[in-house]
Amino acid sequence: MNIILFGPPGVGKGTQAKLLVEEFHSAHISTGDLLREAVKNKTPLGLKAKTFMDAGNLVPDEVVIGLIEEVLTPDDVRRNFILDGFPRTLPQARALDALFERLHIALNGVISIQVDGEEIVRRLDQRRLCRGCGSIFTISQLTGTSVCPKCGGEVYQRDDDKPDTVRRRLDVYDRQTRPLIDFYRATDRLLSVNGMHQVAYVHKLVLDALYRDRTAI
Ligand code: AMP
Repeated sequence: MNIILFGPPGVGKGTQAKLLVEEFHSAHISTGDLLREAVKNKTPLGLKAKTFMDAGNLVPDEVVIGLIEEVLTPDDVRRNFILDGFPRTLPQARALDALFERLHIALNGVISIQVDGEEIVRRLDQRRLCRGCGSIFTISQLTGTSVCPKCGGEVYQRDDDKPDTVRRRLDVYDRQTRPLIDFYRATDRLLSVNGMHQVAYVHKLVLDALYRDRTAI
């Protein structure tokens, strides 16, 4: 199962990706996670990406395309992966199609998760991440502590999840990423899912969409 999870920041792509990974034993490829790791380790890639990320802007296409080309070559990933947060621009989508063709990778579907803008600002303001295991929580699940209930690691809020930067990221999404909806619809690969529900129900909608679509399985 090779899937792209698509949608604005904060619709639950990361959360849904983790559930799909359990379901299909896929590799989870999140460009955001890869870039944050690079920033943390102060690699040349991280140093290049940091200013763009802090401002809520997209990292330049050639940087993220290079990153995906590195990650998508091993055989195990080629057979079964979930792309989360890539592609985000038309040049990235075209480069990805070219890469799929070159590597003979078949894409099962592009799951587009949609949620209202103000709900996204609210969700991201409440979102916390664990530095240890990468789990995602809402403040209410943490009962006032900053300790991860799963691994004991430190839980933190991403700088770019603060409301002003989220609004900027939503604006960037509208201008640069939303056009991909038409790109994938035109080639009959788009599966739309309403993300305004509880996590488990959205997961069910994602699976329904994948199984309903004749080309997806
Ligand atoms: P995410 O965790 O997916 O919300 O990504 C966090 C940040 O990483 C984004 O706001 C961008 O600055 C950068 N980023 C992640 N994926 C991409 C991409 N495909 N293209 C450009 N920038 C990206």
